[in-house]
Amino acid sequence: MTYKPKFSLEVFPPKRTSPIGTIYDTLDGLRGLDPDFISVTYGTGKSSDRTATARIANTIRSEYGIKTVAHLTARYLDYDDVDEALDMFDKAGVSGVLALRGDVIESQNAAGVFNHASDLVSYIRSKRPDLPILGACYPEKHPEAATLQEDIDNLKRKVDAGVTYLISQLFYNNDDFLHFRDLARKAGINVPIEAGVMPVVNANQVKRMTKMCSSKMSEPVLAMIERWGSNPEVLQDAGSIFASQQINDLVAEGVDGIHLYTMNRPGVTRSIWSNVKPLFTKIV
Ligand code: FAD
Repeated sequence: MTYKPKFSLEVFPPKRTSPIGTIYDTLDGLRGLDPDFISVTYGTGKSSDRTATARIANTIRSEYGIKTVAHLTARYLDYDDVDEALDMFDKAGVSGVLALRGDVIESQNAAGVFNHASDLVSYIRSKRPDLPILGACYPEKHPEAATLQEDIDNLKRKVDAGVTYLISQLFYNNDDFLHFRDLARKAGINVPIEAGVMPVVNANQVKRMTKMCSSKMSEPVLAMIERWGSNPEVLQDAGSIFASQQINDLVAEGVDGIHLYTMNRPGVTRSIWSNVKPLFTKIV
């Protein structure tokens, strides 16, 4: 049987305070990489720009010829909002929607319609029976779940509601992902699971992101930051090498795919891709 893992990238819309053109710089910088798809994140909360994801997805598909997946966070949306988003995604020609609950914002009241991502998955499935629906998963468990097993039981509900593909949260210890994958398979979760890899690009970013995602910084990542934290250029190179090695080991373990969080940094993404490309393009 042949094995060909998927390779996908994630970009985010520029902040409202940044010029919209910065996303073109990111996408131009990614030209020629030919990933299986690029996913575009969706802002959560009442003040986020609800058109940005569809606009960028449309550009990626029409101008760069790459399949796109639109993220959608629904905690602060009602049925009409979701219908509107799905119409925008249809027009943008997306190949799938990553259905998310979104993080809790303490200062805002939830709309109370989509309490969990699985509610959004069921709704999208009822409205778009043929649309691929992706879901998020957490190798080190979602921070709100009491145990990894509880989180996996909830994940099974989400998959049963109609998720056809999973993408994982970032992690730095591959054993965490492999353990999670074993438990997910034991729980009867049989859809593909892409492993989320976020390169270390600078010390503050990795501290902020691991805190935000409740992911652990592994010993090698801590050592890298300790050694090169005050030399951002070398840390970035070390981060690319570390991510490439992480991907190499994951592919050797037969993962379904790798989802690279680009952080809108095409230089880092290209350098990782140049290391790992043969693992994805040579069919064995
Ligand atoms: P859920 O699947 O709803 O899970 C949230 C919590 O509820 C978990 O603890 C789970 O165990 C529990 N739970 C789930 N279902 C049930 C149930 N039926 N009963 C009881 N408990 C339940 N955030 C953004 O704002 N924008 C993005 O674009 C974005 N993209 C992401 C992409 C990926 C690949 C990942 C991994 C995360 C992304 N996030 C994004 C972050 C995400 O929104 C947060 O992690 C959020 O807190 C949870 O979203 P979810 O869809 O996983 O929620």
